[in-house]
Amino acid sequence: MDYEPVTHTTTDRRLGHFPSGRDISVTVHRYSGGDGPTVFVQAAQHGIELNGPAALRRLHSRLADADLAGSVVAVPVVNPIAFDHRSYLTPEAYDALNSNFNRIWPGDADGSFQERLVAGVWPLVEAADVAIDLHTGTPEMLEHVRFRQSDPTAETLAEAFGTEFLLADDDPIDEADDFTGKFRLAAARAGVPAITAELSNSRTVRRSAVEAGVDGVWNVLCELDVVDDAAEPAAEQRRLRDDAPRVVADDSGLFELRADLGVGDVVEAGDELGAVFDPSSFERLATVTASASGVIYSVARGGVVVAGERIASIATLS
Ligand SMILES: [Zn+2]
Repeated sequence: MDYEPVTHTTTDRRLGHFPSGRDISVTVHRYSGGDGPTVFVQAAQHGIELNGPAALRRLHSRLADADLAGSVVAVPVVNPIAFDHRSYLTPEAYDALNSNFNRIWPGDADGSFQERLVAGVWPLVEAADVAIDLHTGTPEMLEHVRFRQSDPTAETLAEAFGTEFLLADDDPIDEADDFTGKFRLAAARAGVPAITAELSNSRTVRRSAVEAGVDGVWNVLCELDVVDDAAEPAAEQRRLRDDAPRVVADDSGLFELRADLGVGDVVEAGDELGAVFDPSSFERLATVTASASGVIYSVARGGVVVAGERIASIATLS
């Protein structure tokens, strides 16, 4: 391999402008060494997911002193509008139709306000060999890396990233086949294998989640021989499949999770997960049960629910 000391550049990439005329731009870090693959990494598609940007800041100090065979292109805050509003979604005042940045990839230069912003980022993704999308789930979501079952390169990258839980799905990537506009699927459609890392603890900078992000990206760079180092994934990795039916509330009311349950717990199909109560009459309206046997990877601790709303996600062990 052709390892060479890193050259680091920072550029502002203009994606569009606000109605007032102010520019909307993102900061792009480029770390270039010798010949080798280009790895695209982005964070903060959702404005409250802070452990990705924090991980990229720490990764910067590692990369700046490294010898690379290849390049890393990093966009720490890819959705600055949601970030500045401290909001998961982009405020509807800007784009009521497409407020979720991660449902409109690869964007559209002639589309809605936010589709145009995404289209401005897309050339960086298309030019890469692989892509990593850093997210941060709620405290009630298991830290995991998600990949498409039928993509062996993405699976290898997910393994290398190194979290204990790997979540496979078989989301379609063809437009005719209910394509959702998720970043990872759009990248796959463009021939760029991609993984989604769900670090945990949104709205905060949590040291353990940040370290998982730094180590994860570094491990992927090791796997691709972009850095001359050995990946150190979790000693035991558990493979899950995201194929269980959704666990939804059958009635509207106040949901309480069973006291002894939490993310990472294994449940059997039909196990009671909690109940929905009428907060005024105290009546028990519905019992919520596990839709399949598997691991709870995301769950609402409790709170107001409306009928049909998702309460928990279960992944089956494979
Ligand atoms: Zn997210």
